[in-house]
Amino acid sequence: MNNNVAEMTRRHLRPAEQPITESDEFIEHVLQYAGVPALMMSVIHMTGDASLLDGPVQPRSAILGEIQGFLSPEQQAEVRRQAFQVVRQFRDNQCRLPPLPDAATIRRMMSFLVGEQVPDEYVPMMLEEMNLSGEDSRALHWPETISTEQLQQFPVVVIGAGVGGILAGIRLREEGIPFCIVEKNADVGGTWYENTYPGARVDTPNYFYCYSFEPNHDWSQYYSAQPELQAYLKRCCDEYQVSEQLQLNTTVTDVVFDETGKFWRVHVQRQDGSNDVITAKAVISAVGQLNHPKIPDFPGRGDFNGPQFHSAEYQHEHDLRGKRVAVIGTGASAFQLVPAIVGQVAEIKVFQRSPVWMFPNPDYHAKVPEEVKWLLKHLPYYARWYRFLLFWPASDGLLPSLVTDPNWPHQERSVCQLNDRARQNMTAWIDSQLSGNAQLRDKVVPTYPPFVKRMLQDNGSWLRALQQDNAALITDPISRIEPHGIVCGDTLHEVDIIIYATGFDNHRWLYPINVVGREGRVLAQEWGDDPQANLGITVPGYPNLFCIYGPATNLAHAGSLVFNSECQVRYIMGCIGAVLENHCQLIECTEEANTDYNERLQDWVKKLVWAHDSTSNWYKNSQGKVTANLPWRLVDYWKWTRQPDLSQYTLR
Ligand SMILES: Cc1cc2nc3c(=O)[nH]c(=O)nc-3n(C[C@H](O)[C@H](O)[C@H](O)COP(=O)(O)OP(=O)(O)OC[C@H]3O[C@@H](n4cnc5c(N)ncnc54)[C@H](O)[C@@H]3O)c2cc1C
Repeated sequence: MNNNVAEMTRRHLRPAEQPITESDEFIEHVLQYAGVPALMMSVIHMTGDASLLDGPVQPRSAILGEIQGFLSPEQQAEVRRQAFQVVRQFRDNQCRLPPLPDAATIRRMMSFLVGEQVPDEYVPMMLEEMNLSGEDSRALHWPETISTEQLQQFPVVVIGAGVGGILAGIRLREEGIPFCIVEKNADVGGTWYENTYPGARVDTPNYFYCYSFEPNHDWSQYYSAQPELQAYLKRCCDEYQVSEQLQLNTTVTDVVFDETGKFWRVHVQRQDGSNDVITAKAVISAVGQLNHPKIPDFPGRGDFNGPQFHSAEYQHEHDLRGKRVAVIGTGASAFQLVPAIVGQVAEIKVFQRSPVWMFPNPDYHAKVPEEVKWLLKHLPYYARWYRFLLFWPASDGLLPSLVTDPNWPHQERSVCQLNDRARQNMTAWIDSQLSGNAQLRDKVVPTYPPFVKRMLQDNGSWLRALQQDNAALITDPISRIEPHGIVCGDTLHEVDIIIYATGFDNHRWLYPINVVGREGRVLAQEWGDDPQANLGITVPGYPNLFCIYGPATNLAHAGSLVFNSECQVRYIMGCIGAVLENHCQLIECTEEANTDYNERLQDWVKKLVWAHDSTSNWYKNSQGKVTANLPWRLVDYWKWTRQPDLSQYTLR
């Protein structure tokens, strides 16, 4: 029965969304917009002939922002000419495709596309990401022995309706498990509901910052803005029939384990102030890491005469035109906000504690041409290979440049040779934008090593904004706030509006939910700001409680949080499946497994650049320990989370 539910809900990805019916002229035109290496993959699918892989045109490498594999214009033109004939024939042949190439050929295609050998261990992970077979390859396959009755008796509460919570809902529904998603906001989206500040956008390529089983060929930009991301997530809720299970405007206050009954009581407060208790066999926390806006406690903050608000609680009612605006902070949000508003305001003063590293990406604000959308929808498998092409350079290739080499002599500026090279490249990128402005250069080139803080994608808009006549970058520390502005040392900077782009309080995990586990254990007390969970997902003492985007699962070197959520949700569903299959009630991580995992994690994370003591970052807790980030190679985390290792658990 459970499989029937799954089949009804799941969708099969077709090789192309729509058939090709357009004219020769149109096809010839549209192919000019193709990424040639991905086009070559599509040609192989259309012809069934893989000889292109041995031909003279060989992509050299894949990096973000460069989808042509460094092929010369002549090579590109030649491939487009050949492809034109192939696409025409394909159209005239009723878009009939030969069978998929065999596994060995697909593997060769992978390496060919990215211009380097894709190691064996990455192949299955990347194949999953692409779903070439059309099957949703991260979907669950529980044994038929799990009965409908068992499923019905295993209700689950999911807390939070962002990327993670919605995904959990999709999978629970597919498996026929009763569930509800409790969300404190008035709508779904989490991060992408809350962050509405001008310029808010994803900085992971959108073509893989979306569920692997639900690609979107209609992104208007390669890095889309908040409204589109929220709309995508809302559409997923509707299409996968998760919307009916949402309890919006409802805040979870307490989650308490009942030893005798072996279930959880989830206490909620509804919009009208009434309280309720929902019982559940399992609880999935999908509360995110970044949704408690943090504002430093500047003296006099309450005395300011004008509007002041956090970027994540943006007050759109204030018209910025003609105003003097202060933006405090220069992290990821400010980096997007300042370029978006500098053209409207009379003056903008940006208060910086430390500068940021940024790497060039010409696509960062670029619109996706209609021609590219057409290619993604019509050329067979083109979109799938395009996803892989973007995902690959954002995988583990960067990790070695984050690893500290104890013998490296320039520890103050970089942690190893690769890291130093990144520093040189990014410094050159900054320099190229400053026209010799030495004063500004001193302020905007970080002294700390690259990757200590979150790296930012850049198309030049940040430094262009800071060099406008109405902009000033202030690096003196803020001493206090007065009714008319911000004081640094002896200088009062008069402003009308203050926007705090000062990040989030991410060290109180699951805050402010009071989670009480077995024998009255209180999670907030046990964790403090030093949380430990096995794989970031399960915690000893808290049976059937699972975290998505839990401790040490933030990605700061690779991938996307969508990929991570897909790994975690599969693992969680595996845990629930193990309980049902074994006719048990509870699954609980052992202390040993949790300790072992976290010791290994800390041993490794200490060697990475995030632990560098040159500057602060939000990855470290009050003791300077890195608690937020996932330090592993993506491929390792993917492997470890494919299914739970039951030797790390007790089932009862
Ligand atoms: C401005 C910004 C840009 C980002 N850009 C990227 C990016 O480019 N790439 C990337 O990979 N990641 C990015 N991130 C990280 C981002 O948070 C994740 O990508 C992803 O959106 C996290 O999804 P989530 O569902 O885990 O958490 P969230 O999106 O934070 O959702 C958590 C949900 O839980 C709800 N909730 C919390 N507590 C309760 C409670 N007690 N009761 C009920 N509901 C509750 C919240 O209201 C929220 O809706 C960005 C984050 C921010 C803030």
